[in-house]
Amino acid sequence: MPLTPDQQAEVDAQRAQAQPTLRAVSPGMEKHLYTAIPVLDHGFVRVIDYMGDDAAICQAARVSYGKGTKSVQNDEGLIRYLMRHWHSTPFEMCEVKLHVKLPVFVARQWIRHRTANVNEYSARYSILDREFYIPAPEHLAAQSVVNNQGRGAALEGEEAARVLEILKTDANRAYDHYEAMISQEGQLGLARELARMNLPANIYTQWYWKVDLHNLLHFLRLRADAHAQYEIRVYADAICNVVADWVPFAYKAFEDYRMGGATISATALDCVRRMLKGEEVTQENSGMSKGEWREFMDTLG
Ligand SMILES: Cc1cc2nc3c(=O)[nH]c(=O)nc-3n(C[C@H](O)[C@H](O)[C@H](O)COP(=O)(O)OP(=O)(O)OC[C@H]3O[C@@H](n4cnc5c(N)ncnc54)[C@H](O)[C@@H]3O)c2cc1C
Repeated sequence: MPLTPDQQAEVDAQRAQAQPTLRAVSPGMEKHLYTAIPVLDHGFVRVIDYMGDDAAICQAARVSYGKGTKSVQNDEGLIRYLMRHWHSTPFEMCEVKLHVKLPVFVARQWIRHRTANVNEYSARYSILDREFYIPAPEHLAAQSVVNNQGRGAALEGEEAARVLEILKTDANRAYDHYEAMISQEGQLGLARELARMNLPANIYTQWYWKVDLHNLLHFLRLRADAHAQYEIRVYADAICNVVADWVPFAYKAFEDYRMGGATISATALDCVRRMLKGEEVTQENSGMSKGEWREFMDTLG
């Protein structure tokens, strides 16, 4: 369960206190504020605070005195122009603060995104909960035979059952030992900062993560991508839905130019031009390596 009844009551209490404000408000984002969106078996993402909306991006781009909005169509056109031409600083004028609960091995990938502000739950100060990520059976996959960084078909039958059993038993045994080491009943009790080193990487941690929209879109481009590991991708997918509600024009432009678009090399562009002229272009006469050609063909569909 991502939130305990007490935690849910705190969220409900926060949502019950509305205040009038002169600040920019995004109705789509107000809907998400404080609410936990469940991810994986015990994780969640929830919006704690945000600044700006689509109009704030235009306001910054135009360095306006007022709201900066000429018309809704103008705003959407401007946002698409900014995205298309990598004019990124107006997107940095919007910010979001998230509370994320995630397994430690996912946090290790996430923390590589340096352009954010992070404050993590302290396992030196507090005792971690007995909560571990155990993959759902359909995500208990074999090592991919074509991609060293990926996974293949789901494990089945006895092998799946054995692997699940190992994951659960090892996690619980490690947690039992963690508890035994820090216990102060009849012993000094090992410091929490040392005892935690015995815990597995599938234990859950939590953090507050604050990032501007430009760097958030960069994160989403990499982590909501099919090449990203499933366990971080599901968090990125959940955040994509939030961003789509928060800044719908910016998100639509991002989907169009970044997620759905493609960057091709000058050599590949030359091949496209030759193809359009009716020339038969093959890998051999393309000037591309086999790998580049394969990816180019994938891009062209
Ligand atoms: C599918 C996938 C596989 C990966 N595999 C591996 C792996 O095997 N091993 C591994 O170590 N990592 C791996 N990574 C992590 C990856 O290399 C990046 O560290 C991570 O995606 C963060 O990207 P970033 O540096 O662009 O983001 P951010 O840290 O948010 O930075 C955003 C941008 O700011 C600029 N920037 C930020 N800090 C600096 C700096 N100190 N110096 C210069 N420019 C800076 C860069 O332009 C950067 O692109 C993988 C990532 C993905 C998505």
